[in-house]
Amino acid sequence: MMKVAKFGGSSVANAEQIKKVAQIIKEDPERRVIVVSAPGKRSADDEKVTDLLIKLGQSFSEKKDYHADLNKVLDRFKSIIDDLGLSDQILQQITTTVQSIFDSDGAMDFKLESIKAIGEDSLAQLLSEYLLSLGISARYLNPKEAGLILSDEPGGAQILDESFEKLYKLRDYREIVIIPGFFGYTKEGKLVTFSRGGSDITGSIVAAGVQAKLYENFTDVDSVYCVNPTIVNQPKEITALTYKEMRELSYAGFSVFHAEALIPAVRAEIPVCIKNTNNPSGHGTFIVSKKEANGNPIVGIASDKGFMSLYVSKYLMNREVGFGRRLLHILEDEGISYEHTPSGIDDLSVILRSDQMDESKEKVIIDRIQTELNPDQVHTERGLALIMIVGEGMNSQIGTAARATKALQNANVNIEMINQGSSEVSLMFGIKEEAERDAVKSLYQAFFK
Ligand code: ASP
Repeated sequence: MMKVAKFGGSSVANAEQIKKVAQIIKEDPERRVIVVSAPGKRSADDEKVTDLLIKLGQSFSEKKDYHADLNKVLDRFKSIIDDLGLSDQILQQITTTVQSIFDSDGAMDFKLESIKAIGEDSLAQLLSEYLLSLGISARYLNPKEAGLILSDEPGGAQILDESFEKLYKLRDYREIVIIPGFFGYTKEGKLVTFSRGGSDITGSIVAAGVQAKLYENFTDVDSVYCVNPTIVNQPKEITALTYKEMRELSYAGFSVFHAEALIPAVRAEIPVCIKNTNNPSGHGTFIVSKKEANGNPIVGIASDKGFMSLYVSKYLMNREVGFGRRLLHILEDEGISYEHTPSGIDDLSVILRSDQMDESKEKVIIDRIQTELNPDQVHTERGLALIMIVGEGMNSQIGTAARATKALQNANVNIEMINQGSSEVSLMFGIKEEAERDAVKSLYQAFFK
């Protein structure tokens, strides 16, 4: 049986953290495949290596002098190397790699992708060198060799199914395999990255590929909290939640685990565990396909700002064939994606993320709705927050919505919109952004106190 462990940016931010990582790997012989991020921030005002690399690429593409940017990256690695007592060969290698990427032919997009991946790639090599220096049998494996074949979508690549057969062979290595996260290769051999934070995705894919018994995701928090800890002080920790619950929570603002990283684990039914590199013996949070009911229908409360609604009403809308389709078609035409469509008999609201729609876009859309759909009323409302209460237990417990609305009433929060998905895993409230904190606090009191 084997586990795949992924260590995030904060877990490999400096030598001290990397020593903890080595200890965690050493402690459990089932940790056979390790996926790493690039070094992250060492303090709140520090910069992630990936961000430094993005700046380096930008300077090059804008034909500016990029040496200061390159030196910042080298400095980060040099301090790790010095503190771990490793050879500085990797520094030379980074410089040569950057130079050869810049000198190569081919599209700028792909050059920038290769630059972005240097953080993960170099860290994985460093970690395996460090493990060897401790007498732990480890080897670095490039994602191409490992079998990560991705779609040709720079900065948002997706795994291709043919990868999984090759990844299964990772089970055969006798050494502990160290794979850099965040990138893979297209069928034509071009390097491409996942979206930002994508090392979680690599970890999940690799865990599915080797059919691991567990995918451990090491980060810098003890667990996933049931509510945003910047809103509620020291909230309860979630010990277990289902994939579906995690998906709903991460949609509305839970950012501990990359939303896309769930899919491979879900398909292969690999349990995921979020753990803290700084407290590895803690229980952590398990994300599983099924869990025991514990009496509380809700596992978590999530909230996110930055939404708006587009309200359209027309008498007898319910009898007008194709009205909804034509409305959504206008949005599609204008390149706008929508989130939810709560509706009444003669009205329909479309909830959108407001950053997609500036005022001129809004005007175009409203004009088109007026001329093409001839509604009685159409208007928008900005400044909405969505609050979701999430839990699979909701579908078997009567009164959850009543408790939630009572909590909002107690906090004197007006509900602008309510939506319950057909799967009954979440209940969503649209409220004014200013009321977000009060609403979340009151819901927390109602369900967790
Ligand atoms: N280093 C990449 C980023 O900062 C990927 C990751 O950390 O997961 O987005």
